[in-house]
Amino acid sequence: MIVDNLQAVHARIAAACAACGREPGSVRLLAVSKTFGPDAVMAAMSGGQRAFGENYIQEGVEKILAVREWQADGSAPPDSSPPEWHCIGPIQSNKTRLVAEHFDWVQSVDRLKIAQRLSEQRPAHLPPLQVCLQVNIDGGPTKAGVAPQEAQALAAEVARLPRLQLRGLMSIPEPAPDFIAACALHQRVRAIFDQINKTGVLPQPMDTLSLGMTADLEAAIHAGSTMVRVGTAIFGDR
Ligand SMILES: *Cc1c(COP(=O)(O)O)cnc(C)c1O
Repeated sequence: MIVDNLQAVHARIAAACAACGREPGSVRLLAVSKTFGPDAVMAAMSGGQRAFGENYIQEGVEKILAVREWQADGSAPPDSSPPEWHCIGPIQSNKTRLVAEHFDWVQSVDRLKIAQRLSEQRPAHLPPLQVCLQVNIDGGPTKAGVAPQEAQALAAEVARLPRLQLRGLMSIPEPAPDFIAACALHQRVRAIFDQINKTGVLPQPMDTLSLGMTADLEAAIHAGSTMVRVGTAIFGDR
């Protein structure tokens, strides 16, 4: 079932790309496996999926270790390469070490203090942690994410941290009433992304725009998303 669902999501991505003249390969699929067990991840891997997103850090680390064990003890198909793990949930200071030691990407960085801790705690034997800044495009002061007008300054500072590699921006807009409204919200994130890249404050341009979930991936792709984060359409209701 998970494998069929994955195929259906790939078909949605391909159709959305075709509708706006983009290459289907220009959008990556992140399978959001939060609340589902390692068995669901393994099923998705058997369907070719390799990038997984987790919101809850402790739960994510347990899953990462379970899948690694499954691959190490020979239970996994011999041709299966290790998955790439993305932290997409809120990070408290006391959880940065777990994230730095176990994840490949973090998409939910929204303040410098967390970024500095992640950089300091990233183990030397691992490649730099790949980072997206979460932007609060429409929310009030209590919603996670850096304010749009502060995103560029934070990006410039994060890009200087030695053990992080700044890859892009992530956002979780509120559900929009229709396709046009959803596009407009995603476009606002795209505009910030383009603006930061254009100013030349970064040593190298960002390449990742993480926008779109089960309900709005078509609108996000229309607005230029390069990575959609899909949970429900792959794993079912939570
Ligand atoms: C849960 C979650 C998703 C996936 O949402 P679905 O609607 O199930 O596709 C994507 N991104 C983030 C940050 C999430 O927390």
